[in-house]
Amino acid sequence: MRLRNVPGAREAIAEHSMTFTEPEKNKGQWKEIFGNDRPIRIEIGMGKGNFIIQMAQENPEINYIGIEKYSSVLIRALEKCEELELDNLKFIRMDAEYICDVFEKDEVDRIYLNFSDPWPKDRHAKRRLTSRQFLGRYDQILKPDGIIEFKTDNDQLFEFSLEEIPEANWKLVDSTWDLHNNEELCKGNIMTEYEAKFSAMGNPIHKLIANR
Ligand code: SAM
Repeated sequence: MRLRNVPGAREAIAEHSMTFTEPEKNKGQWKEIFGNDRPIRIEIGMGKGNFIIQMAQENPEINYIGIEKYSSVLIRALEKCEELELDNLKFIRMDAEYICDVFEKDEVDRIYLNFSDPWPKDRHAKRRLTSRQFLGRYDQILKPDGIIEFKTDNDQLFEFSLEEIPEANWKLVDSTWDLHNNEELCKGNIMTEYEAKFSAMGNPIHKLIANR
């Protein structure tokens, strides 16, 4: 994603009612933050937020938290939320490497990873959001029956992710190399910004679902 500095983004995010400046203080208390007992699903690397905003609109009985590393990107999601009044959606600006500082064991029901950065160099493999290191972190915060759902158009990253799952003692529930032509897995699919862009270019979209 091309990053442009957006002046004032960091300050605007800090003051926004849908975001948290010290999310680690809410560890274990996210249900209280939402004020109900509904399941919590998170998207890591949510970019400008199309996917998670639409999910929150379509599923009011589920709580959603979008996680994004950069203020200049997250601010765009906040702008989209203006006038939507979604009380089941929150955002955190953070590096997902520290996800275990923010969520308690079993606090998260589902994790979405959409078009995660590929980090093509081998020495950067542990930064990929589907690496065994990240799967180990998800293992600590995800409910025992929780799942991760991952979409990408990147062949190498998808192949890598399929290999990392058994290495991290996770199990592949389902997968496809061509999501948009897979009737079963594409049911109810919500496109992300990258998914719309890359599928318009003719790239097949890959998806996998994994649990432990
Ligand atoms: N999910 C969106 C989509 O599908 O349109 C955005 C995809 S974009 C290629 C990847 C996003 O993940 C970027 O916005 C990037 O800043 C964010 N990201 C990458 N690594 C991250 C990390 N460790 N923690 C939080 N966000 C991260």
